[in-house]
Order: sequence, then structure tokens, then C-alpha cells
Amino acid sequence: MRLKYVDNARELIEAHPDLVIDKQDNEKLYYEDMFEKKDSPIHLEIGIGKGQFIHELAKNNPNINFIGIEKFDSVIVRALEKVIEEPLTNLKLIRVDAQAIPIILKDYTVERIYLNFVDPWPKERHAKRRLTHRGFLDIYKHLLVPNGEVHLKTDNEFLYNYSLEEMIYNDMEMLYHTEDLHNDNYEGNIMTEFEEKFAKRGMKIFKLTARFKETK
Ligand code: SAH
Repeated sequence: MRLKYVDNARELIEAHPDLVIDKQDNEKLYYEDMFEKKDSPIHLEIGIGKGQFIHELAKNNPNINFIGIEKFDSVIVRALEKVIEEPLTNLKLIRVDAQAIPIILKDYTVERIYLNFVDPWPKERHAKRRLTHRGFLDIYKHLLVPNGEVHLKTDNEFLYNYSLEEMIYNDMEMLYHTEDLHNDNYEGNIMTEFEEKFAKRGMKIFKLTARFKETK
């Protein structure tokens, strides 16, 4: 029963340590212990919500190892339900706040970071919580391999413009950007739950792809 799962989110998470890592300590995680194909590249999604995007992406790309981070039990449990129903050896979920990334993941190991429909935090006093604030960009800079990419999708024009500016200001270059993804010639887009909802309402979806410039 779905509702029962949400009531018992904590119990369900604790019952599936093989599928979702419930990170409570400050120990580093080792990809060798997490994935069957130990030499595959690592792609990470932060704020996976109910997990539709990362689950489909992982299913379509068996030679990439995917990590999905989400801070709330009540949300990640929905993603967990998906992997219980259809387990994938190249997908691991981690219940943790993205702030913990430098503590739990090894530097220079991730090829791609996805941020989908993350909270815009419109008030200036909350700017540090935006997942494209310079504090987080600095975390990504250390986590990504050279030429590693950050992919952002949002319905929020403010967050899109803020992210463009913040990234350029912090030595990143744009590889792709659009203010209307669904009417652009972008192949292979996988919709997230939020994206489906916003697209049905006729809202435009913004996307950008960026990477850090090589510093010599
Ligand atoms: N990506 C999903 C959900 C978007 S809502 C979709 O597109 O449908 C944004 C999600 O990011 C929420 O589930 C929220 O809990 C999560 N989130 C926001 N800040 C986070 C952080 N600092 N660490 C981990 N998850 C975060």
C-alpha cells in the first residue's frame, strides 16, 4: 500500500540498505562497494524527488553508474518504491543533504551533475540554499572530473537567470542553454515529475549545460 509506505518512510528506508544509503555518519563512500560495474563513469542527480528521471536514465544507460541524492525521507521513499519494483545495479540512492557531498564523496570522481526543478529560494536572505549558489558551485568544482558537466532544468526564470550569471561569474562556460526546451531540438530529454506537471500547464522549461573552464 502506497500510503502506508509514506507513513513508514523511515522503516522502509532502513529496511533497504542495499538500495538506499541512509547517510548519518561522516565516512566517505566508495563506489567500488556501491556498484557492480566498478569502472563505469558516475553521474549524480541532486534533489531527485520521486525519482522518475534518474530511474529511467539509469535504465537507459547501463554503462553509467548513477547516484541520486535527496534530503527528505518522505520524498526519497517514492524513489525507493521504484527501485524496489525494478532494481537496477547501476543506481544507488543516498538520503542526505547535498551540503554533505564534500564529506561523503571523493573529489574529482563525477562526470555529470543533474539539478532538476530545484527550489529557487527567491528571498535574498536564502540565496545560499540555492543549489547553484557559489557555495554549491565550489562543491561541484571539486567533485567533477575535468570537463565534467552541470545540467540544470527549471520552470523558474529567476533561478535560470541567476544560475547563468552565478556560473559565468564562477569560471564556468555554457555548452548549451535554452529558454524553451520542449520546442528546441534537444534529443533524448527525460521528463521529471515536476517537468510533466509544468509542461501540462503550458509552462516553458529552461535548461542549461555548463562546465568549469580549465584553469592553467
Ligand atoms: N527533481 C524532481 C524534484 C524537484 S523538487 C523533479 O524534477 O520532479 C526539488 C527536490 O530537491 C525536493 O525533493 C527537495 O527535497 C530536494 N532538495 C532540495 N535541496 C536539497 C539539498 N540541499 N539536498 C538534497 N536534496 C535537496
